[in-house]
Amino acid sequence: MDKIKMTVPLVEMDGDEMTRIIWKMIKDELILPFVDLKTEYYDLGLPKRDETGDQITKDAGNAIKKYGVGVKCATITPNAQRMDEYHLHQMWKSPNGTIRSILDGTVFRAPIIIDSIKPVVKNWQKPITIARHAYGDLYKGTEYRVPEKGKAELVFTGENGASFRETVYDFECPGVLQSIYNKDSSITSFAHSCFKYAVETKQDLWFSAKDTISKKYDMRFRDIFQSIYESDYRADFERLGLTYFYTLIDDAIARVIRSKGGFIWALKNYDGDVMSDMVSTAFGSLAMMTSVLCSPDGKFEYEAAHGTVTRHYYKYLQGEETSTNPMATIYAWSGALKKRGELDGLKELVGFGTKLEEACIETLNDGIMTKDLVGLVEGMAPTAVNTIDFIRAIRARLEKKLEA
Ligand code: NAP
Ligand code: MG
Repeated sequence: MDKIKMTVPLVEMDGDEMTRIIWKMIKDELILPFVDLKTEYYDLGLPKRDETGDQITKDAGNAIKKYGVGVKCATITPNAQRMDEYHLHQMWKSPNGTIRSILDGTVFRAPIIIDSIKPVVKNWQKPITIARHAYGDLYKGTEYRVPEKGKAELVFTGENGASFRETVYDFECPGVLQSIYNKDSSITSFAHSCFKYAVETKQDLWFSAKDTISKKYDMRFRDIFQSIYESDYRADFERLGLTYFYTLIDDAIARVIRSKGGFIWALKNYDGDVMSDMVSTAFGSLAMMTSVLCSPDGKFEYEAAHGTVTRHYYKYLQGEETSTNPMATIYAWSGALKKRGELDGLKELVGFGTKLEEACIETLNDGIMTKDLVGLVEGMAPTAVNTIDFIRAIRARLEKKLEA
């Protein structure tokens, strides 16, 4: 069989620990035998980031800007313990944060679902995709531990003379104080990414916040979403039979729980942080969550939602057998290849990505799975296998599909 051709390179970002091991297994067993793979390779493993003063991460982000599609392995975000473990020159920033700020994107997370793993919420039949605004609010907040009696004020001094000063609270005793902000430009990008992704994946879009309480802050989010919807997306939504609506977050939560799934739920930064953990846990396993970063100008970065699975890696280093689930990382590859194929008009490449995903699902439906899933399945007697045997079981099914 001839290998499937590519025309434009994919930006490939290697990573750390157990996921770096799995990365190579996936390439060797599931991609390279079948695809004449063209990638521009960036090693985002921590040693290389340290050696290049983290320049490599910025280069990778800019390469995604140039080529349009990237696939990323999980990477370590250094903390004090990693400083010692890797003898780092600096506590480098999270690569995901760096790439996100270059692409100005929104992160969409969706679970991979199979029949034998029932979500905790029994009426959920389709995936729920969370779109989290990954900029500002609490995450860029300023905090102060008020030590004594005194007055707190909110002050703004405009460059052209606008000014604002209001008492936040007259503290009669010690307490706490916090200020947060966001920018029209960032909210606008967030809204564009959400509407584009909804059109692209043909799903309804829900957006929720708390504008009854936050009458200026959250109201601004609501207004920006509404006006962008009217000016740029209403026609596409109506043509595709899709719905966009805004609702209060309390109401959204009630509706999500009662829903059948199959939509995108856009959330402000903190809400998205918290709700994505709730949704992924309720669907089953972190190892089955896919993640894609979409920029408002249509660039895509695919990855798994989980981290580098450190605990498994330390076992692997001691020569122990590991049963780490590669599903989300395989889907990062299939998603990126499908997108590359779509953009470059390569039907065969799109077909390959689809068949790879089908082979994964068939393997799971045949009861062959990694240990993390064994305890979650119902109505079958699963066989627990290690990572490489799982990947080889997928390969056998993929080969059959490609021959057919
Ligand atoms: P993690 O790597 O996601 O793993 C947490 C736990 O979840 C694992 O110990 C494992 O549970 C389970 N798990 C996650 N993925 C799994 C998989 N594919 N198969 C089976 N089990 C899986 O999170 P972490 O341990 O908090 O973080 C480790 C490193 O990853 C950190 O250095 C962090 O900075 C980095 N990180 C990177 C990203 C990213 O690049 N996007 C995201 C998050 C974290 P058991 O141990 O119970 O088996
Ligand atoms: Mg969280």
